[in-house]
Amino acid sequence: MFKGGYAGSALHIDLTAGKIERVALDEGLARKFIGGFGLNNKLAFDHIPQGIDPFSPQNVIIIGAGLLGGTAVPGSSKIMATTKMPINQAIGTAFGGGFSYMLKSAGYDYLIISGKAQRPCYIKIIDEEIELCEASSLWGKDIHEVTDELRARYGSTSNVIAIGPAGERLVRFALTLINKFATLGRGGLGAVFGSKNLKAIVVQGSRGVGVAREQEFMRLVDSLTETMLKIPFRNEWIRLGIYLGWPTWTKVGFVGKNWSELYPEDRATQLYGPQEYQKIFKATIACPSCPLGDKAVLEIKEGEFAGLVAPVSHGLGCVLSWGIRGDVGSLARAVKCHDLCNRYGLDDLTATALMDLVVDLYQAGIISRSDADGLELKRDFTTSMALIEKMGKREGLGDLLAEGFRAVVARFGKEAERYAVEIKGLDVMIDPRGHLEGMGAISQCVNPRGTYGIAGNSPAFRAGTTPDKIAKYCQRIGASTEAIQRICGPAEFNLGRLTKYAEDWYSVCCCLGICARQSVIQCYDLSLAAQLYTAATDWDISQEELLLAGERAWNILKLANVREGFTRKDDRLPDKFLEPLKTTAGEVYLMDYNRTRRLTRDDLERLLDDYYQERGWELARGVPTKEKLAQLGLEKEAATLPH
Ligand code: SF4
Repeated sequence: MFKGGYAGSALHIDLTAGKIERVALDEGLARKFIGGFGLNNKLAFDHIPQGIDPFSPQNVIIIGAGLLGGTAVPGSSKIMATTKMPINQAIGTAFGGGFSYMLKSAGYDYLIISGKAQRPCYIKIIDEEIELCEASSLWGKDIHEVTDELRARYGSTSNVIAIGPAGERLVRFALTLINKFATLGRGGLGAVFGSKNLKAIVVQGSRGVGVAREQEFMRLVDSLTETMLKIPFRNEWIRLGIYLGWPTWTKVGFVGKNWSELYPEDRATQLYGPQEYQKIFKATIACPSCPLGDKAVLEIKEGEFAGLVAPVSHGLGCVLSWGIRGDVGSLARAVKCHDLCNRYGLDDLTATALMDLVVDLYQAGIISRSDADGLELKRDFTTSMALIEKMGKREGLGDLLAEGFRAVVARFGKEAERYAVEIKGLDVMIDPRGHLEGMGAISQCVNPRGTYGIAGNSPAFRAGTTPDKIAKYCQRIGASTEAIQRICGPAEFNLGRLTKYAEDWYSVCCCLGICARQSVIQCYDLSLAAQLYTAATDWDISQEELLLAGERAWNILKLANVREGFTRKDDRLPDKFLEPLKTTAGEVYLMDYNRTRRLTRDDLERLLDDYYQERGWELARGVPTKEKLAQLGLEKEAATLPH
């Protein structure tokens, strides 16, 4: 019996049969696998057949809301989407802002979508009115057009997840956008939608989301909201978002030329810096219930793109992708490229990484001008725009790029391999050479879905954080005293061991739907998360039990990927990061956290050993042991482990 938190129902949607079934949420399952991340991963494990082609109708898409999604808890509106990803055949759970409030208000905690519709369709969920609707007139339209059209039909407050032409054409890194501004589905969720002839999902709910112990719940919400409203840099954050970290980004984060050179600091600031950003910033957008909104609407007021209005997930995204890596020469041009990617439904981080790759191959003479459809491939605006169009339409070279890194390497041979900077077939997000931090080095390697650094985020993200601060963080997220001793010394700070706890904490937050951006997640701790869970559901839970649920959710996702053949050999930092990074101040190397010595491949292997050991996994293969799975209550699932 659900007294609150959960809506209590789910929808199973079979697109082949055109059948929609409303099912009751299983209480035992919801207690064991919490919210979005836990339930999504368990359902993926149960419903995605081993070895299936991501584009097979048998692949499923699970869209699930976090337990606190739809309540007044600040920054808790994340929706999770899980499927087998076409970019790398991994099973991944992506998350994005919004949608969960409306889904739960309509009465549903999650959707499982299977099969393939005969003709283009979209799913309409208006409370109890659920329908598969004809979408032929929407097919071919970009994400903005589709979202606007569906909102015109079903109301401006309805929430829409949509794909663009790239998803329809099965570009393996096509993503979806929620309400035009929140990205969802790095790794090709948009292409899985396309393979099912599914253009969009639109939802409108009117019931709200109840909680069990209202007074207790609102006391926690009020106190948390007050904390967030009092954050000293709140006003700047709302205006600048991730741009606030500009000085750090220019020193270590803006790596261009296919991970070879740090972009010159003065050029970055002159072309793309905060002053330029202020000129085009139009408004902040916040996910529902978030007092720290950092998504934005940008408006170009003059020049070649005057009149362009672009909603963006965060302002710095345009700079990281097209500004630095595309070297397009102005912030307006970077916004133009970013907006075009969004309209096609292309993941622009992967798109720029592929552009970086083919420019290097062209300059090394591995790709000829005729391979490049007559283009002279350079890092500039003309090449960037041409490749986005080609990828979005799957034309010429773009058709090959649409298949991802490994297809490019397979086409151009062994020589091309060393230029492809990827982990598990997915582009790297962060260069770990500026400082060896959680997001850069280990977390990107061990994430089961491929490179996704955010899960290992911690104060160790910033170089020079004291052991004392790291210990406090570990306490906040529930690491035991013994674990903290192993992480913080006495020999040296151990990033491999810390990553396990940062991931489990991230997993807990994803189960609840809490946003992982630093401004939000830093306001939470394990104790508060457990109190919110209990007040919402009326189910008492200890901090240890909640943390165990987070660990369970992580392990079952890992197990799903072990079943797909991923092992330690795939958890490998590309050789590129063992080479020096060129900067105007000299060469920078991959160093230990305190920057006392240069790291080798052997050091990285030792950090991986530490990570697996802390997780209680087998060292040789980097996979969960049967004992660990039994401890997490996953005995049944353990039976599927390869010997
Ligand atoms: S910090 Fe940004 S992404 Fe996170 S909930 Fe708030 S608006 Fe959404």
